[in-house]
Amino acid sequence: MNVKVVGRILQANDRIASENRAIFKENGIYVLNLMSAPGAGKTSLLERTIQGLNGKKKIGVIEGDIATHRDAERIASLGIPVVQINTGGACHLDANMVREALSELPLKDIDMLFIENVGNLVCPAEFNVGEDEKVMILSIAEGDDKPLKYPLMFQESSALLLNKIDLLPYVDCSIEKIRDDVAGLNPGIRVFEVSCKTGAGLDDWYNWLMVKGCRG
Ligand code: MG
Ligand code: ZN
Repeated sequence: MNVKVVGRILQANDRIASENRAIFKENGIYVLNLMSAPGAGKTSLLERTIQGLNGKKKIGVIEGDIATHRDAERIASLGIPVVQINTGGACHLDANMVREALSELPLKDIDMLFIENVGNLVCPAEFNVGEDEKVMILSIAEGDDKPLKYPLMFQESSALLLNKIDLLPYVDCSIEKIRDDVAGLNPGIRVFEVSCKTGAGLDDWYNWLMVKGCRG
């Protein structure tokens, strides 16, 4: 695709994203766009977060996947309203896909909406969907070279969860290097070291969400 075509696609996307934003505002919904590579732990983080916030926020979820309804089933089993978007091959969610999913959610009964993007470290960061914040997960098993290799996602995110810290003894990954590189790309980003397996570090994340979600 040439640059002009890409520019037009992003412009059209931004227009729909601002319409989505107006819908969220009207319904008092704080929205997070959750991004990561496949397998970093997005759905596990959502399961933990739903349990951790323990009804203090009325949560809704949009699950983006290329195929299958597995993640939506995991979320639905917790009694949370969830819509699955299958992108049929597309490697990111765009504003229009999110718009269509909104008609299937009880918007009046949601204060915090998590949009789990397709697992991919590249283009999810290029497409706004109307969110308040982009948040990303990097599992330490992916390696400490990722921030400099995929800078945009780290630059666009308000928070970074370094997940699977329980694996630290078994992998060659320097948390310090990640923190330094990320600080260079995005000095304002908030970094959490967590394990969705053991629950370590997640209380700080829940507190951050509660503070952010009350500003909406
Ligand atoms: Mg998932
Ligand atoms: Zn894509």
